[in-house]
Order: sequence, then C-alpha cells, then structure tokens
Amino acid sequence: MRVVAVIGCLFAGYCVGVSGSDGQGGSDEELLAKAKRLAQEYIIVDTHIDAPERMTELKKEDDLSVNSKGQFDYVKAKGGGLDCGFMSIYIPASYQKTGGAKAFAESLITMVEGWAKRWPDKFVLVCSAADVTAQSATGRVLLAMGMENGAGFENDSSNVQYFYNKGIRYATLTHSKDNLICDSSFDTTGTWKGLSPFGRKIVEEMNRVGIIVDVSHITDSAFYQVMQLTKAPVIASHSSCRYFTPGFERNMSDDMIRVLASRGGVIQINFGSFFITDEYRKYADNMEKVINEHLKANGISPTAAAGKEYARKYRKEHPVRSPDVADVAAHIDHVAKLVGVDFVGLGSDFDGVGDNLPTGLKTVADYPNLIRELLKKGYSDDDIRKICSGNLLRVWAAVENVARMLKSH
Ligand SMILES: [Zn+2]
Repeated sequence: MRVVAVIGCLFAGYCVGVSGSDGQGGSDEELLAKAKRLAQEYIIVDTHIDAPERMTELKKEDDLSVNSKGQFDYVKAKGGGLDCGFMSIYIPASYQKTGGAKAFAESLITMVEGWAKRWPDKFVLVCSAADVTAQSATGRVLLAMGMENGAGFENDSSNVQYFYNKGIRYATLTHSKDNLICDSSFDTTGTWKGLSPFGRKIVEEMNRVGIIVDVSHITDSAFYQVMQLTKAPVIASHSSCRYFTPGFERNMSDDMIRVLASRGGVIQINFGSFFITDEYRKYADNMEKVINEHLKANGISPTAAAGKEYARKYRKEHPVRSPDVADVAAHIDHVAKLVGVDFVGLGSDFDGVGDNLPTGLKTVADYPNLIRELLKKGYSDDDIRKICSGNLLRVWAAVENVARMLKSH
C-alpha cells in the first residue's frame, strides 16, 4: 500500500507531496521489472558524468558506442534508460595557477562534439530543455555539457556568452580551490568570504545568457550569496545531503536545501560513496591520508604500479561497509520529506569517483535499481518521473525564460 500525504503548496507553483513508507506492492522482482519499465518510459537526465575526464586520464578515447570499461557508454545508457547525460567539462584547479583554463575547456568540448560526430546514430548534442524532450524519442543518447569550474571563464565575463555559444548549459562556480569567482568547500583559505565582486558579475551574466548556476563545490557563504543575487533558479549538479555526512561542506545542509527549493531549484544527488554515508566518508578521508603519507615517505608516485598496488592492498586489509543503492534512495527521500519531491534529481558523478560507488549503483545501467528502491518507499510513478528528469527540465526551462526576460528589457 502506498500512502501519500499532500501537505500543501509551500512554494508558489509547486505542489509538495511526501511519500509514505509503506511502499508499492509486489515482490522485489516485480518491483524491479516495473522499475526497468519506468526507466525506459520516462526521460532520465543525469547532470554529472565525468566521461571526458576519464578519456583525458586514459590519454586516448575509449569506444563509447560499445560496452566499454567506463561507467558511461551507449550500451549501458540504453540498458539503464539514461536519455541525457551532462558531460562534465571539468577543469582542474591547477589551471587557475598555470593559465590555459579556457583552452582546456574548449579541448574537452571538442572531444564531446567529436563523439556525436563519430557515432551520429548513437549520440546527439542537446542544448535546451525542449531539445531533450524532443530528441529523447529518437533513441539516441543525448549529450549536454556542464562546465565544472568557472575558472574556464578566466577573468572575462564575456566568456559566459562565449561558452554558451559552445554549448555549455550549466557552470559550477568553482571546484576544489577558491578561484576568481568564489570560495570552494574543499579550501579553507576563505579568499572572498563567499562570492568575489567578479563572481557577482559572472552570476548576473549567467542569468542573462541562460547558463544554469551550479552551486556544487562552493562554500556555504558563497551559496547564500548566490541565492540572494540570482534571478533564476539554480542547481546543485552533484551534491548529496549533509544530514547523512555531518560536517562535510561539499554536501548541502537542510537549511541550504530549503533555500534552494524556495527559489525553485533542484539538488541532483551524487552517488559517490563518500557523499552517501558518514562511515565511508571518514574511511575514505583516512585512507587517502595514510596512503599519501606512505607513498611520500617512500618516494612512490600514486600513479606508479607500486603506488596503485599499495592502495589496493590497503583497501583489502582495511575493509569498510560499502553504501548500497538503498542508502542513495535515503538521500532522495530526505530531500522529498524536507521540501517536497519537486526539488530532487540525479547527478551521479559516474566516471568521476573511481570505484567508490554503492552496491547496485555502479554504472549508468543501474538507474532501475534506484527506481526500485523508490518504488519500495512508496513513490508514485509521477514522483519518479520528476526525480528522473521532470524537476531538472523545469529548472532548465525556467533559466531559459529568465534569460529571455532579461534580454528583452
Ligand atoms: Zn565535482
């Protein structure tokens, strides 16, 4: 039995439903069969896939048209019902020191464009919410692009329009270090105490041009300043709930989720294990420290065979409970109970977190397992449609509308 209590429209235009915990009826097998059907029937948009970064690390391009070694490719996407993946145009913070961020971003964009050219019957680039809906019927896997790290804009706000013209539809304001735009949750320097004056200009320009502001990776102060400034709803393209990982600023606090939702935005849940459980996050933090210290003391490079072997051995000797797909569903459920089912979606971070992924949620073939967990929790078919893409497409269209309005004035 499914119980849904509608607690009213807390936010203009959005009805907030909270699903009960009795679950949809049926055996595990029946629920999985239904989940597989819904995954194929509904549009699934995942806002953070690091396939370009994986290719960069491989130093060659893998064949994405077949069942590859990666967590994203055509075969897995079709199997899991993924319609549209935002390819992350990820710019490491090191470019902020060396320069060349814009050129590097362009090289990754050219790479993604190349996939659509190389396999035109399997991939196609999309650049609007309406495009996603229209093209999803063609059976191809749709590629959208988000730039992870506003460092790509360098020190010139006219680059916002430049990257829009290149197909970038969201931009994460910073990554692991403070940049010219704002402070990073992974950096304790606090360069700007939030947004810089240039960062304010960038947010305004993103609103005007129609690039979605992505608040993943930024500090809490930067987030609240963005929320005061932005004229359009924003997304967290790949963040989870801090409720489950206390003190981990990279995830969003309940208060931040409330503010995000009150402005019509959406949090796209990151599947990476250290975003999901406190136990795994602490384990991963400690493991990284121990391994790095050992490698440094012995002059071993982390990418050398001996470095990789040490890390493998350490993991084997120090096992930890891996989160599973139900733990990820708990994050979605937390957001839905906090602010409603209209403000949560999927931002896996596939190909960006190594093998630190929950049991049952290892590649883009696995979305049905997550949908099964939501069915178990009593989410309606329409709730699932919203989580899979409806909410994100609503935000994307709203950002496009705000840009049109701002341009016409
Ligand atoms: Zn990231």
